[in-house]
Amino acid sequence: MKKNPWIGLVPLIDPEKESLWMLPGYMEGVLAAGGVPVMLPLTQERAVISELADRLDGLIFTGGHDVSPSVYGEGPLPQCGRFLPERDEMEKLLLDAALERNLPVLGICRGLQFMNAALGGTLYQDLPTQHPSEVEHEMKPPFDRAAHEVTVLADTPLAQILGNGVLGVNSRHHQAVKELAPCLKPMAISPDGLIEAAYLPGKSFVLGVQWHPEHFFKKDDGCLALFQALVAAAARQ
Ligand code: MN
Repeated sequence: MKKNPWIGLVPLIDPEKESLWMLPGYMEGVLAAGGVPVMLPLTQERAVISELADRLDGLIFTGGHDVSPSVYGEGPLPQCGRFLPERDEMEKLLLDAALERNLPVLGICRGLQFMNAALGGTLYQDLPTQHPSEVEHEMKPPFDRAAHEVTVLADTPLAQILGNGVLGVNSRHHQAVKELAPCLKPMAISPDGLIEAAYLPGKSFVLGVQWHPEHFFKKDDGCLALFQALVAAAARQ
């Protein structure tokens, strides 16, 4: 068992400020779970990605901009938000490198969406127009509270971490999984039928959740448990 495993965080991007940044919650969540958070550079250099994947013990695919529709073979609808192909490119390489090495990965919000798209699934580009419902998927602040429920599916890694049953989650997304990638399995479903968590069977720990544990882990034990599960898997690397 490794002590204090290093968890790489995909950087957030602010094109206007020409800057990379990180929400403290991602780092604090990893720290609270006993890991060491490391914010990654934005790079598409295979050698650098390979080196990062060799040295890190786990990864978080963070939230952020919309996924480029080209990742799942579509053109952008007018309601699609801004996307940054340079980030998609990096994440494709990083995900491949992680899967080759069986590196633990937690996808959060966009992270789940990206993994699904990169592995052959599709996304709703905009829920209000493509999947309208009464469920509040784009909540207003504060984000450290539940916006809607999800049903955790039995016999999944999420059920092992959180237990079976219904869970209150926060929700800040206007995109979502549409068709799940053939290699992924669902782990949680919203009341309007969206897949809000999924995993990749056959790997030690490749999980994605549509909600935001980084906003909620200080109050919600289930959100903290997700960081702890990632760090525990990374410690076994
Ligand atoms: Mn939601």
